[in-house]
Amino acid sequence: MYEGLHIVHRHHGAIDLRSDTVTLPSPAMREAMARAEVGDDVYGEDPTINRLEEMAAALLDKEAAVLVPSGTMGNLSALLAHCGRGDRVIMGDQCHIYWYEAGGASALGGMAYHPLPTAADGTVDLDLLREAASLGDDQHEAPSSLICLENTHNRCGGVVLPLDYLAEVAAIAQDAMLPVHLDGARIFNAAVALGVHVREITRHVDSVQICLSKGLAAPVGSLVLGRADFIARVRGMRKMLGGGMRQAGVIAAAGIVALEQMVDRLAEDHANARILALGLAEIPGLNIELGRVQTNIVRFELQIADLRVEEFLGRLRQRGVLMGGMGGRTIRAVTHYGISAADIEHVLGVVRECVE
Ligand SMILES: *Cc1c(COP(=O)(O)O)cnc(C)c1O
Repeated sequence: MYEGLHIVHRHHGAIDLRSDTVTLPSPAMREAMARAEVGDDVYGEDPTINRLEEMAAALLDKEAAVLVPSGTMGNLSALLAHCGRGDRVIMGDQCHIYWYEAGGASALGGMAYHPLPTAADGTVDLDLLREAASLGDDQHEAPSSLICLENTHNRCGGVVLPLDYLAEVAAIAQDAMLPVHLDGARIFNAAVALGVHVREITRHVDSVQICLSKGLAAPVGSLVLGRADFIARVRGMRKMLGGGMRQAGVIAAAGIVALEQMVDRLAEDHANARILALGLAEIPGLNIELGRVQTNIVRFELQIADLRVEEFLGRLRQRGVLMGGMGGRTIRAVTHYGISAADIEHVLGVVRECVE
């Protein structure tokens, strides 16, 4: 039996709302990790990884999947498998790939980013997208090779892309004969918020990256999914990037628990985010757009002239509440596994104290 190990579920007693990446593995994950059957995955011989990849491919209705160490490596290895040097990759200018992935597609893949203005709801203008998708016939133009989407949209505050928007982007891509890659770090938050099976999202894209280590609470890992021949190329790119792992079944075991047990409970995080948002909206000096709070991310603005964001965050921290500054007057709080409705009530009390 896997006993006697004290499992800690909260960092230093603080209520940490900086991100859903701070989630700690569940007891069931620890148990599964300890018991996982493992082998050398570069030889394709880790039974737990193979099971996770097959399970995820079936769930998202794609031919194949590959486990990668991080979402960043997942996106990069997918982009490298889709595009060559000098190829144009079209994406919204607020997306994670453009902002937070160290320029990898450009630095390591020689790709040209073509960022399009992003609306507050996470979408880009479809006429601009169509125009960008058509580039490449003229000798002046880097050939368009890929369209990237992100769902839920992180920098736009966890908003969910509508299914009919996904369908329209897919139609534009098809006309231009371009593949679509989805950064689905939080795709299950989107599916839960829409009340649809995750397949209703993935059917519109050729490849997708999903994070096991965000709201699903696994300690490490992402998956890239797509057609079998494409995933074989992603596997090669993962190796090139140094991401070929050996007995990583200990990681995959937690990933299996994540997909089996942690998806439906995301609704609880969304409900807690809603309670937090409604409470913040009542506090003078805070601005929040409630319509943008659709999943587990709450963004709000501190509009008190003589209170700096850093000062406010410091006051919260002294009282055991962690949130993140997002630049300017914007603050972010993310609900996740380990945060209860009672915690949210407590946080609202602390915020009230800190703005006084
Ligand atoms: C977190 C995140 C990633 C990257 O995942 P890491 O595992 O942190 O590398 C990619 N895209 C989005 C939208 C994310 O939120």
